[in-house]
Amino acid sequence: MDSCLFCKIARHELPSKIVFEDENNVAFEDINPQAPTHILVIPRKHIETLNSISEEEQLLLGGMVYTAVAIAKDRKISSSGYRLVWNTNRGAGQSVYHIHLHLLGGRAMAWPPG
Ligand code: AMP
Ligand code: ZN
Repeated sequence: MDSCLFCKIARHELPSKIVFEDENNVAFEDINPQAPTHILVIPRKHIETLNSISEEEQLLLGGMVYTAVAIAKDRKISSSGYRLVWNTNRGAGQSVYHIHLHLLGGRAMAWPPG
Protein backbone atom coordinates (compact mmCIF):
# COMPACT_ATOMS: atom_id res chain seq x y z
CA MET A 1 0.00 0.00 0.00
CA ASP A 2 1.72 3.14 -1.24
CA SER A 3 -0.13 5.63 0.98
CA CYS A 4 -0.18 3.63 4.24
CA LEU A 5 1.75 5.27 7.08
CA PHE A 6 2.91 2.01 8.62
CA CYS A 7 3.86 0.46 5.25
CA LYS A 8 6.06 3.53 4.76
CA ILE A 9 7.65 3.06 8.18
CA ALA A 10 8.25 -0.63 7.40
CA ARG A 11 9.96 0.38 4.14
CA HIS A 12 12.04 3.04 5.98
CA GLU A 13 10.44 5.77 3.88
CA LEU A 14 9.36 7.71 6.99
CA PRO A 15 11.48 8.39 10.07
CA SER A 16 10.77 6.20 13.08
CA LYS A 17 12.63 4.71 16.01
CA ILE A 18 12.82 1.09 14.93
CA VAL A 19 13.79 -1.24 17.77
CA PHE A 20 13.57 -4.58 15.91
CA GLU A 21 12.89 -5.87 12.42
CA ASP A 22 13.05 -9.14 10.55
CA GLU A 23 11.60 -10.45 7.30
CA ASN A 24 8.05 -10.51 8.68
CA ASN A 25 7.74 -7.81 11.36
CA VAL A 26 8.92 -4.34 12.31
CA ALA A 27 8.77 -2.89 15.83
CA PHE A 28 9.14 0.82 16.54
CA GLU A 29 8.52 3.38 19.29
CA ASP A 30 5.02 4.87 19.36
CA ILE A 31 5.19 8.58 18.49
CA ASN A 32 2.75 9.41 21.33
CA PRO A 33 3.74 7.03 24.12
CA GLN A 34 1.12 6.13 26.72
CA ALA A 35 3.59 4.35 29.01
CA PRO A 36 7.38 4.38 29.61
CA THR A 37 7.57 1.51 27.11
CA HIS A 38 5.16 1.89 24.20
CA ILE A 39 6.18 0.01 21.09
CA LEU A 40 4.17 -0.97 18.04
CA VAL A 41 4.77 -4.30 16.33
CA ILE A 42 3.52 -4.45 12.74
CA PRO A 43 3.70 -7.02 9.98
CA ARG A 44 5.44 -5.92 6.78
CA LYS A 45 2.35 -7.18 5.01
CA HIS A 46 -0.44 -4.61 4.75
CA ILE A 47 -3.51 -5.93 6.59
CA GLU A 48 -6.16 -3.33 7.48
CA THR A 49 -7.73 -4.86 10.57
CA LEU A 50 -7.73 -8.16 12.43
CA ASN A 51 -11.07 -8.81 10.73
CA SER A 52 -9.17 -9.32 7.46
CA ILE A 53 -6.91 -12.06 8.81
CA SER A 54 -6.96 -15.27 6.81
CA GLU A 55 -6.34 -18.75 8.13
CA GLU A 56 -2.88 -18.73 6.55
CA GLU A 57 -1.98 -15.55 8.47
CA GLN A 58 -2.40 -17.08 11.94
CA LEU A 59 1.33 -17.68 12.19
CA LEU A 60 2.03 -14.07 11.30
CA LEU A 61 0.01 -12.96 14.34
CA GLY A 62 1.87 -15.43 16.53
CA GLY A 63 5.14 -13.99 15.26
CA MET A 64 4.00 -10.49 16.21
CA VAL A 65 3.18 -11.65 19.74
CA TYR A 66 6.51 -13.48 19.99
CA THR A 67 8.34 -10.32 18.91
CA ALA A 68 6.48 -8.18 21.47
CA VAL A 69 7.27 -10.63 24.28
CA ALA A 70 10.95 -10.71 23.28
CA ILE A 71 11.08 -6.90 23.43
CA ALA A 72 9.32 -6.90 26.82
CA LYS A 73 11.98 -9.29 28.14
CA ASP A 74 14.75 -7.21 26.61
CA ARG A 75 13.32 -4.07 28.27
CA LYS A 76 13.12 -5.92 31.61
CA ILE A 77 9.39 -5.28 31.97
CA SER A 78 8.31 -8.89 31.55
CA SER A 79 8.36 -9.66 35.29
CA SER A 80 6.69 -6.46 36.48
CA GLY A 81 4.06 -6.74 33.75
CA TYR A 82 3.07 -5.41 30.37
CA ARG A 83 0.01 -5.18 28.18
CA LEU A 84 -0.46 -6.19 24.56
CA VAL A 85 -3.32 -4.39 22.80
CA TRP A 86 -4.87 -4.76 19.39
CA ASN A 87 -7.45 -2.05 18.69
CA THR A 88 -9.83 -3.14 15.96
CA ASN A 89 -11.97 -0.58 14.15
CA ARG A 90 -13.05 2.86 15.24
CA GLY A 91 -15.12 1.88 18.28
CA ALA A 92 -12.03 0.32 19.86
CA GLY A 93 -9.82 3.29 19.00
CA GLN A 94 -8.06 2.06 15.87
CA SER A 95 -6.67 5.10 14.06
CA VAL A 96 -4.15 3.51 11.67
CA TYR A 97 -5.56 0.86 9.35
CA HIS A 98 -2.53 -1.41 9.17
CA ILE A 99 -2.67 -3.89 12.02
CA HIS A 100 -0.35 -3.15 14.92
CA LEU A 101 0.19 -4.71 18.30
CA HIS A 102 0.77 -2.21 21.12
CA LEU A 103 3.32 -3.25 23.75
CA LEU A 104 2.76 -1.09 26.85
CA GLY A 105 4.68 -1.36 30.09
CA GLY A 106 6.88 0.25 32.69
CA ARG A 107 3.98 1.50 34.80
CA ALA A 108 0.95 0.05 36.58
CA MET A 109 -2.00 -0.57 34.26
CA ALA A 110 -5.63 -0.09 35.21
CA TRP A 111 -8.41 -2.53 34.39
CA PRO A 112 -10.89 -2.24 32.76
CA PRO A 113 -9.20 -0.18 30.05
CA GLY A 114 -10.80 3.09 28.98
P1 AMP B 1 -4.35 2.82 17.18
O1 AMP B 1 -5.04 4.05 17.75
O2 AMP B 1 -4.57 1.55 17.96
O3 AMP B 1 -4.66 2.66 15.70
O4 AMP B 1 -2.80 3.09 17.31
C1 AMP B 1 -2.10 3.86 16.40
C2 AMP B 1 -0.86 4.31 17.11
O5 AMP B 1 0.06 4.75 16.13
C3 AMP B 1 -1.06 5.44 18.09
O6 AMP B 1 -0.65 5.03 19.39
C4 AMP B 1 -0.19 6.57 17.53
O7 AMP B 1 0.44 7.33 18.54
C5 AMP B 1 0.81 5.80 16.70
N1 AMP B 1 1.40 6.53 15.59
C6 AMP B 1 0.78 7.29 14.67
N2 AMP B 1 1.66 7.78 13.79
C7 AMP B 1 2.87 7.31 14.16
C8 AMP B 1 4.20 7.46 13.64
N3 AMP B 1 4.46 8.20 12.56
N4 AMP B 1 5.22 6.84 14.28
C9 AMP B 1 4.98 6.10 15.38
N5 AMP B 1 3.75 5.90 15.90
C10 AMP B 1 2.71 6.50 15.31
ZN1 ZN C 1 0.10 -0.68 5.44
